[in-house]
Amino acid sequence: MRKRLDFLSRHFLRRIAIGYRLISAFILVSLLPLLISGLLAYGETSRATQDKVRAYSVQVVQQISQNLLLRMEKIEDTSEALALSEKMQRLLADYYSGDADASAAARNSAARVLLDTYGALTYVNQKYLLDRDRQVIDPQIFAPLASSIGRVAEEAPELTGRGWWTLYHAGHGQKSLAMLREVRFTANNRPAGVLFVGVHPSYFFDIFRGADLGYGASISIVDASDGAVVVQSRESSASQADPALLGGITESLAQGRDSDFIAYVGADKTPYYAAIARLPHTSWWVASITPSDRLNADTRSVRDKIIAIGLVCFAVSLLLSALISRSISVPLQRLVAAMKEAGSGDTTVRVEQHGNDEIAVLSRKFNEMAGKLQQNREVLEEQVRLRTRELERANRKLEALSATDGLTGVANRRRFDEALANEMRRAVRSGQSLALLMLDVDYFKKYNDRYGHLAGDECLRIVARVLQKSSRRATDLVARYGGEEFSVIIAECDTTQALQQAENICQAIFELKLPHADSPFGYISASIGVAVLLPDEHTAPEQMVRIADQALYHAKYQGRNRVVLGSDATQGL
Ligand code: GH3
Ligand code: MG
Ligand code: MG
Repeated sequence: MRKRLDFLSRHFLRRIAIGYRLISAFILVSLLPLLISGLLAYGETSRATQDKVRAYSVQVVQQISQNLLLRMEKIEDTSEALALSEKMQRLLADYYSGDADASAAARNSAARVLLDTYGALTYVNQKYLLDRDRQVIDPQIFAPLASSIGRVAEEAPELTGRGWWTLYHAGHGQKSLAMLREVRFTANNRPAGVLFVGVHPSYFFDIFRGADLGYGASISIVDASDGAVVVQSRESSASQADPALLGGITESLAQGRDSDFIAYVGADKTPYYAAIARLPHTSWWVASITPSDRLNADTRSVRDKIIAIGLVCFAVSLLLSALISRSISVPLQRLVAAMKEAGSGDTTVRVEQHGNDEIAVLSRKFNEMAGKLQQNREVLEEQVRLRTRELERANRKLEALSATDGLTGVANRRRFDEALANEMRRAVRSGQSLALLMLDVDYFKKYNDRYGHLAGDECLRIVARVLQKSSRRATDLVARYGGEEFSVIIAECDTTQALQQAENICQAIFELKLPHADSPFGYISASIGVAVLLPDEHTAPEQMVRIADQALYHAKYQGRNRVVLGSDATQGL
């Protein structure tokens, strides 16, 4: 499990920047529960409202239908009592008696008899007695009215003992409800006539009025046989029920239900819910119709609130997570940048340290580390500087040593060769002549033999010192050419100056008065060969050495302790 979490963290989460990880975590934590609970609440509310409305409205329409039935039965009962009453029986018997006077009297008293029964019932606004031929018995009645009532009676199905209810247009666009029932002679059960009782719609309205279902519901009575709206609770010009509602009613009827809850989309494209209940013994249905959007208004308000809370939560969590992620990622980025700089060599870089969190600790530790690194670097640099200086000194010493003759301290042969070559090149460039003196101590072998080798060494050191002293120009170079032979290079020097300097040296050595018993002079002396040359780029240093050497040979040959100027076949000066 732990491994899996590590895997998830390494291969998935760690690929996303900290900021985004935090933001998504915040949003997930704040919005997910809200979303789930919101959806649940939305669903619950929606279902609960629907269930509530369904149960309540079906109950209400059932109740209304019961009440209607009671009222209708009351009218029917009254009519039945009247039909069976002695007054009515006698009236009709007189009407059919064949006696013109009795018949006329019966006609005239019909209205009275009806008034006796229905006069006190204010909701009965029309009452007529019709004969077997569906003709109104009352002679006072206005003829068109009489014929229209006769027509209603004609249209009625076969009337039985119960009342038959129908919608009746009482003229002037007024609607009325009418109950028709048959009157039979009690003596022989033969048809005797028809009672027509018109009931004011408000008589049924009263029942609806108290029953407000809320949610914009309207209640109406619909005749399923022809779709006519018999009564409706709201002011509406519609005389025909919505076909979709009618379809629903027909379906419930087909399934043998007396009450139902149906959903349908009306002709106005609005979805509706309708609770319907049938009025027993009639084709009338009580329908409570609710536009479903009104029904869902509560639910929508819950949903809107959830959305509003969700948006606020989203904004707050976005802000919070942005703040927190900034508080982490910004110092981290600074730290990373500082580390990069330190990595590329700038150990003076430091990170700002705020707060007390892990990043602050990390920053502090980084600064400490960078500080130490800086210190170590400085120490190291100082050491390197020191060592370099020492090394340079040693190098210089080594170089000097490698160019110096160990016994006499003057330049050695190697240095001489270099210097001669350099000075010749310079002479070629400057066009100035160059002089070379070659010196050899006279009878030195004998000196060694007599005074010993150590004394010979000392003698060589003394001669070297004399040479150094007499070569004062910085460009003059005194070198030990080998054994007891020395050479002096004199730059920018003509023959006269060269000979003069050679003479000075020769004299200075002799004037040392270093005793040399085996020398015919009695003292140490030296012979010097001089070469003076204006070299060109083809002149070799060896050439100059050879000239000086030959001059030295001549000096020896001529008796030693002297200076001889050499000459070259090509370049003698
Ligand atoms: P001349 O030059 O006058 O013809 O006679 P010479 O005796 O000086 O002859 P040469 O120049 O041939 O002798 C060189 C001698 O110098 C031989 C050697 O004993 C001596 N010598 C060479 N190098 C050194 C040295 O470094 N120390 C000492 N003590 N003697 C040296
Ligand atoms: Mg020699
Ligand atoms: Mg010699």
